[in-house]
Amino acid sequence: MNSKITFLFCLILTFFNAAIFGQSGENTATNKVGKIVLDAGHGGEDPGALGKRSREKDITLSVILKLGKLISDNCKDVEVLYTRKKDVSVDLYKRARYANENHADLFISVHCNAAKNLSAHGVETYVMGLHRSEANLAVARQENAAILKEKNYENNYEGFNPNSTEASVIFSLYASAYLKNSAILASAVQKNLVANTHIHDRNVQQAGFWVLYKVAMPSILIELGFISNYNEESILMDENAQNVMARSIYNAFIEYKNKMEGTNKPYLSVDPINKDKIIKNVKEEEEKKAAEEKAKAEEQAKAAEKSEGQPAAGLADSLKIRFRVQIYASPEDLSFTDPKFKNATDLKKYSENNWWKYTSGDLKTFEEAKAHLKTLKENGFPDAFIVSFKNEVKITNDEARKLEGK
Ligand SMILES: [Zn+2]
Repeated sequence: MNSKITFLFCLILTFFNAAIFGQSGENTATNKVGKIVLDAGHGGEDPGALGKRSREKDITLSVILKLGKLISDNCKDVEVLYTRKKDVSVDLYKRARYANENHADLFISVHCNAAKNLSAHGVETYVMGLHRSEANLAVARQENAAILKEKNYENNYEGFNPNSTEASVIFSLYASAYLKNSAILASAVQKNLVANTHIHDRNVQQAGFWVLYKVAMPSILIELGFISNYNEESILMDENAQNVMARSIYNAFIEYKNKMEGTNKPYLSVDPINKDKIIKNVKEEEEKKAAEEKAKAEEQAKAAEKSEGQPAAGLADSLKIRFRVQIYASPEDLSFTDPKFKNATDLKKYSENNWWKYTSGDLKTFEEAKAHLKTLKENGFPDAFIVSFKNEVKITNDEARKLEGK
């Protein structure tokens, strides 16, 4: 209990420090926007949200690098800093600290959204603040949950648990001196992205993102679209669409910079994307590729059958399909030596919706998995079930069985 009170007290102090510091910062003579920190969400061991065909960390990095290049090429008076420029893990607290230590004037974080409801879609731009709705809280929790994947997170985040109700209380104390400017940038970003991508407008939102909470400068977090929505994922993955997104954010940045500095720097031209065309092209290409892959796999399987007499396993190998039995799920990253797993063999784990899921067995046919499932059910895992993977990406059992030719 004591530690909790001390913890809250420290946070309140931090908040007042930030507010005082922030105000004196704003009262200085110039509103020059000369240094920007660009933050590609997730990276390295933390893939972020997973789509069917892509990972959040790759999309965020690609868009951030494009945006950074546009700023470097077109604004010689702006220094561009990156929290990461390649596929590496960077703790959330280090991202914020990096921006603070460099005394950046602006912080832009790029992410992709994901939801259990696969039809959810649209772009939204966040500024730090109170959670206006349960849905915003869910988005913030999802992004904050990256903390749980970091080592020593209890020390680095003062015991902060992104899933606790305390987290919302702490964030509700935040009244940023930078909120006004953050909101100016956020609405410019949202306006430009919607106009040029025609992705559904989910508006500017407020929520308690750790990374925004800790930076002492105007800051926004963009959720470009839903990677969990099949069609929107196609757009997020599209190179041309990513260029349009980067140019849209660039123009919003210029709008903000002009406003702050009283200048009139020109915007870049942007050809809005044709959303439906991208979706249609991707679909056609994927169907073609899938057909080719299947034909090739069948051919290889036939060859394997001739030489080894193992038709199903040969097909599974060439299609990279695996069947595993899920035995446990936890928000924490458990060790395979945990006593919970003592009756299970051949353990693997995968991450989904910020949960770690533990599996036993790595089988090439559904039939083998069924037998393995039976054994596990009899040995202390009555709720176990079969999960399927293709290229280490989870697919439905139906999809896997279809690929098996069943
Ligand atoms: Zn994210």
